[in-house]
Amino acid sequence: MYVSELGEQFHRARLEPAITHLDAASAGRSSNAVIGTVSAHLWREAERGSYVAADDRAAEIARDKRDIAQLIGHTPDELTYRESARAALRTLLTSWSLPMASTVWVAKNEFGPNLVEFERRGYAVRPLPDGDVYGHVDTDALENMLQFEQPDFIHVCHVGSMSGAVQPVARIVEIAHQVGVPVVADMAQAVGHVPTVTGADVVYGTSRKWLTGPRGVGFLAVRRDSLRPVEVDASQSFIAGMLGLGVAVSEVLQIGQQRVFRELAGIGRATRERLDGIGSWQVLEPIDEPSAIVTLAPPPGFQRADVHQARDKLFELGLLVTAADSWRAPLAGESSVLRISPHLDVTREQLDRLADALRTMGY
Ligand SMILES: *Cc1c(COP(=O)(O)O)cnc(C)c1O
Repeated sequence: MYVSELGEQFHRARLEPAITHLDAASAGRSSNAVIGTVSAHLWREAERGSYVAADDRAAEIARDKRDIAQLIGHTPDELTYRESARAALRTLLTSWSLPMASTVWVAKNEFGPNLVEFERRGYAVRPLPDGDVYGHVDTDALENMLQFEQPDFIHVCHVGSMSGAVQPVARIVEIAHQVGVPVVADMAQAVGHVPTVTGADVVYGTSRKWLTGPRGVGFLAVRRDSLRPVEVDASQSFIAGMLGLGVAVSEVLQIGQQRVFRELAGIGRATRERLDGIGSWQVLEPIDEPSAIVTLAPPPGFQRADVHQARDKLFELGLLVTAADSWRAPLAGESSVLRISPHLDVTREQLDRLADALRTMGY
């Protein structure tokens, strides 16, 4: 039995999986329509030449840009495509005219590879204080800090790679804008998963995770009226991927984005309720955190290698999850966790099987 009433529809739109895929935070499973669109365009490129094939799809690309822009609260002309979220961040940082020694404030869930990009450019990085044990930004403390000092920008992962905690991005934007500080939001784990209209100056994300588009596509959107505007070159190389992403986004909009977000939040809750405490594995989010990323701290005494061993044993049983290490969120601590990220077609039976397997691997 599907946890969500959208499960049947989501499942029917896809190939029957060979495994129980509980790993949308790594890469969601694309629908048959997405795969068909990508491959059809590759055939057209061979038939008509890549540039002619691209021109033939100009209307679709314009519509796709409107759809993506709608998801993140930007306008289509503010949006450009890149190969990945990381490429989008690099484009932003390369194109932006920031002071020599820039300061950026980040949340504790900041994605490790993003920190590498900041350090490589010599930025001074400062972590924002948490308001709770789950790593949500303390917005009161932020408001207070900003009275005394302003960074060149705030960068926040709306949802990180190692926790299902959803950051209060809209509130952070509101506070930061009061004192003229721009906000950049990494929505790689957020878009297609949680509501992403926040008013952030810059938003970037990826196709392959919750949107279940193809790999190899990301996007970057910079508000024209941003507190720190920047011109970004249009880059349209992987047209087949862009078209595939467009179909994936249209599928979300067809169901209704708010409905998708609500159902995914319900799935996160059901997963946490089912797994918390099993074999002494502990859920690390609030049970009702409105996201479908669930992380489990291992039983006492488990080391990094044990978490990886647990992941491998689950995989042998046909259950795909991620052993997430601290490089993903180095400011949040050093422990490894098991990350479970089901998409809309997860069933109660699959969660039961996961719980049974975890029980035999804990205490
Ligand atoms: C996956 C991820 C990225 C990187 O996405 P790519 O498209 O692979 O570059 C960035 N930030 C977060 C929080 C992620 O989870």
